[in-house]
Amino acid sequence: MQVTARPSDITPSSSVPSVFTTVEGHDVPVFFSRYPAGISIAAADVEAAMYAIGELASKAGSRERRRALIRHTNPYGDPFAVCHCTAFPERLALLSSLVEVMWIHDDVTEEMDHTEACRAHDELATVLRLDVDPSSLESNNPRLKTLAPVLRKTIDMDPEKAPAMIEMLKTYLATFDNIGGNFTRMEEYMPHRIANCGYWMSSYFIRWGMGMALSDEDYASIEQYDIAMGNVLGLTNDYFSWNIEKDQQTDRMRNGVMVLMKEHHVTADAARMMLLGIIVDEESRAAKLKEERLKRPASQEILQYFEAIELYVGGSCYWHSTAPRYQVYE
Ligand SMILES: [Mg+2]
Repeated sequence: MQVTARPSDITPSSSVPSVFTTVEGHDVPVFFSRYPAGISIAAADVEAAMYAIGELASKAGSRERRRALIRHTNPYGDPFAVCHCTAFPERLALLSSLVEVMWIHDDVTEEMDHTEACRAHDELATVLRLDVDPSSLESNNPRLKTLAPVLRKTIDMDPEKAPAMIEMLKTYLATFDNIGGNFTRMEEYMPHRIANCGYWMSSYFIRWGMGMALSDEDYASIEQYDIAMGNVLGLTNDYFSWNIEKDQQTDRMRNGVMVLMKEHHVTADAARMMLLGIIVDEESRAAKLKEERLKRPASQEILQYFEAIELYVGGSCYWHSTAPRYQVYE
């Protein structure tokens, strides 16, 4: 499989930082997104940083260590270098480190029973403070010990945005796994899955990575678009990860294939095809909402966000299409 890279000016009027090259997702046979994808010019640095975080935040020989290594050994690119390709390099390394700790935490806690997992989320949340001081942290939990210094650097890099960032991370930990058991209806599953897959966190870091923020008014005007994009992101992960998740030992499976099987009494293969239909439908819905929004005047920040989040969602499909993680059976 050959994927062509080309310079980053997707359109002459591009409003995102020129810190990436675009890649031809459509060269990959199973890629289906309508959106473009790119890779950061700092991809090698991100990969090295993620290797270091994996060593610190997970125990040697553990399942989460193995998963972290698989996650960051995609020859087509690291998930953060691809999905967050619009972030300035120094910001990219920090946001990737923060989110990577959350992903390792998710891998550790997803096979705990729900009550025990919620306790672990609360424990990790204790370091989410503006005055976090890594030198005085008293904990042997490797995820807490890794998160504290990264968080300190992230706060210091952009103090003005730090209070909102801390609140966003607290909300992530309080909501991504706040419902036990399995879902039987997509209508109930999809809103939960947006938070559960970390979309609100990623959407925030897309903005933080470019050093920008959307005003409340701007955000409200694109909220429905963002929800549709969140559905695309979470369900795309479900579509590609079904094969490694279907036999997972958990009291709360988070995969739309399972939900559709229960809701419509169909086989896994039929449910997976239905899921692909829902994803494509949500992409169309997002595209229509964007078209509608652009009929009215839009700020530079909105234009920037549209472009970057589409690279994020397209990049996610590209990464899932190429990642060994989804071809490796654990
Ligand atoms: Mg999954």
